[in-house]
Amino acid sequence: MPSGNVIRGARVGSAPMRPDERHQPAPRQDVTYWCRNDHRTDIRIAADATAPPLWDCPRCGLPAGPDAQNPPGRVRAEPYKSHLAYVKERRTAEEGEALLAEALAALRRRRGES
Ligand SMILES: [Zn+2]
Repeated sequence: MPSGNVIRGARVGSAPMRPDERHQPAPRQDVTYWCRNDHRTDIRIAADATAPPLWDCPRCGLPAGPDAQNPPGRVRAEPYKSHLAYVKERRTAEEGEALLAEALAALRRRRGES
């Protein structure tokens, strides 16, 4: 019977984790985003990850970007378009005139003006 077997009783896999694996979190990077309402959002992502270009502001829901002076909402916001503007996109002026004339003719018929 061998004596002095110092590893007796030790099981495979029972060795403690190395301290650096156990106590140090994975490397991280902090990324800051601003929305156009000047809400600042700090997120922390893995150091080897690529920061997303946009982040939804948790306070107002607008897209936030990493450039405080140039938040994405201002750049990407489309100018307000009226209903008429959308109609003009769909129909040409000639079509609009024809529709108008048609509508006026129908109106006059209803009024008996013929
Ligand atoms: Zn915001």
